[in-house]
Amino acid sequence: MESLVSDRRRFLRAAGAAAVTAMNVCGAGSTLKPTAQIAITLDLEMSAQYPTREMLEWNFQKGNLDEATKRYSVGAARVAAQYGAKIHFFCVARVLEQPKVSWLKRIIEAGHPVGNHTYDHVNLKAATAQQTQFRFQRSPWLVAGKSPNDVVRENIRLATHAMKQRLGIMPAGFRTPGGFSNGLDDREDLQQMLLDEGFKWVSSRYPPHKSGIARQPPGEDVYRSILNAQQAAQPYRYPTGLVEIPMSPISDVTGFRSKYWKREYFLKAVGQILDQCFERREVFDFIAHPSCLVVEDPDFEIIRLICERVRDSDGRAEFGTLDQIAARVPER
Ligand SMILES: [Zn+2]
Repeated sequence: MESLVSDRRRFLRAAGAAAVTAMNVCGAGSTLKPTAQIAITLDLEMSAQYPTREMLEWNFQKGNLDEATKRYSVGAARVAAQYGAKIHFFCVARVLEQPKVSWLKRIIEAGHPVGNHTYDHVNLKAATAQQTQFRFQRSPWLVAGKSPNDVVRENIRLATHAMKQRLGIMPAGFRTPGGFSNGLDDREDLQQMLLDEGFKWVSSRYPPHKSGIARQPPGEDVYRSILNAQQAAQPYRYPTGLVEIPMSPISDVTGFRSKYWKREYFLKAVGQILDQCFERREVFDFIAHPSCLVVEDPDFEIIRLICERVRDSDGRAEFGTLDQIAARVPER
């Protein structure tokens, strides 16, 4: 009996110690930063100067995706899925005028979200209706008598309707064509317009950063500038309640198209950003375009790098769609 009692005391002491340890772990756990969230986002549009440098007509037909771009998009979704990741796509909805949209339906059926990127790829901050898009500069009768805000609102609405009718889905969020260094900080009217159109978040901000001299390897100052910009561009909530999820530098078109980067420079920059994000438990909103990557990274090395690094992050990072990232931004 005696021994049983002492055994029991020993057990209780041990259990108590274990409980205290557990509490400490939990206590420490509650002060730990959350996991880093890593999003891979691809804008489904044609990019000027791809597949060859003289190709500029895409500026007028951003939504008229060619076969190689569509194939790459499907391939990228498949590669990401091998790692359990979803790609967050953004659709320039004029592509839905094409005879076949089965490639995009396959992507949707595999569970990848697709957001609204307007119908014609319009600039939300353009000063006149014609300046919202090259198409309307060439064919001004399409927007005659309209204010720039009318054109923008109609173009966003048209994309939503087209996605509903042709794809059977509601858009998963909104990304502005082009990025703004201050996002929509200066345009409460546009924040409100997006809320009125049913969106809870926008991805509109692209932070300024150095990108070096064209055709030359980027210096350490460029890599440092990208890391600083990435750190400064974390999700936040506007006074209207709309959430901003900035695009993270460096975008594919900035590196490859504007500065003629080699893939190794780009992979180095992305690797450094991932290190920093994992360390600081931050958000990385990788932004690229299949129309550019199909030429610059045909074997999906960049997407594989991101996926492998998250997989090997020891729980410091997880994949996130922009909906999942927006859900973590605190209410005001
Ligand atoms: Zn775009």
